[in-house]
Amino acid sequence: MYELITKDGRAKRGRLTTVHGVIETPVFMNVGTVAAIKGAVSTVDLHEIGTQVELSNTYHLHVRTGDKLIKRLGGLHKFMNWDRPILTDSGGFQVFSLSSLRKIKEEGVTFRSHIDGRKIFMGPEESMQIQSNLGSTIAMAFDECPNSKASRDYVRPSVERTTRWLKRCKVEMDRLNSLPDTVNPKQMLFGINQGAIYDDIRIQHAQEIAEMDLDGYAVGGLAVGETAEEMYHVLDVTVPHLPDNKPTYLMGVGTPANIIEGVYRGIDFFDCVYPSRNGRHGHVYTHHGKKNLFNAKYELDTRPIEEGCQCEACRNYSRAYVRHLLKAKEMLGMRLCVMHNLYFYNHMMEEIREAIEAHHYEEFRKQFLADLETPDD
Ligand SMILES: [Zn+2]
Repeated sequence: MYELITKDGRAKRGRLTTVHGVIETPVFMNVGTVAAIKGAVSTVDLHEIGTQVELSNTYHLHVRTGDKLIKRLGGLHKFMNWDRPILTDSGGFQVFSLSSLRKIKEEGVTFRSHIDGRKIFMGPEESMQIQSNLGSTIAMAFDECPNSKASRDYVRPSVERTTRWLKRCKVEMDRLNSLPDTVNPKQMLFGINQGAIYDDIRIQHAQEIAEMDLDGYAVGGLAVGETAEEMYHVLDVTVPHLPDNKPTYLMGVGTPANIIEGVYRGIDFFDCVYPSRNGRHGHVYTHHGKKNLFNAKYELDTRPIEEGCQCEACRNYSRAYVRHLLKAKEMLGMRLCVMHNLYFYNHMMEEIREAIEAHHYEEFRKQFLADLETPDD
């Protein structure tokens, strides 16, 4: 159940209560693609860095190690020892972006696994069955994510099919949740708005899915090649057509600035691989922009990555030491950078929630964005 605690302009401060605990929004979900955060970060670490929701990928877990096996082991929560909320994506995005030789039909998509090349069929029912086997807290509807540059003639029928797929997802999820051996019979379903950068298609689709009384609504198909301004414009026109009393989710976004702007436009949930991916390459986030720890100027720098940061890396180690670990290709260097970046994102969401509660989000946003553009070394 979602409770809208307060609003400041369009920015929402909400609370989603689930069987795996409460999610305070706006929230950043930490991406653990194959049931692990890349960079040797454990679920024990996730508690330490203030993670509220972990996100895993349906497609990846289906092709390796297999959702049926994970169900036999008690579901994803038990398997990875994480007792807080988990969101699983539908697999759609990976099917359309990673796999080769895909063929889309009304029933679903046939594609080849990127691991062993075997032929797999996935439609709305299969995606729901896999996510039910994983037993995630929130399942995402199976959709097609058209390229942001796709023509109007391609996007319109694709979005219409995504709506028909969403209806099938809902029917299948209700059926699965009623079975006696279901891992999580209270699994929630979020629908996904599509429509590339066409305002009218986005709005019409948002209105259609808003009527379906789902547990939440995502805006998908963004951060896939369009400009930040185009993305903000889509949010400006689309989000007002999604229900205020349900959580909203901007999929796969993004940089700290993108998140600040997304919240400003009414988004509750975010996820992105940037903090872990950049951390693995020695790029660390701070309130004064991103730093590359490989830079020679940090060689003798005894300050933490960010002064005042309470993460494990900043409480204990200097920039000079973390830089040395990265240069020596020690796994610890990578891990400390990922931990810091995820802590930074989770903590930023805390600052965002406080600013909305205090009803000064507008000033907070301006200051935060200005600071990001002002390097401090
Ligand atoms: Zn830190």
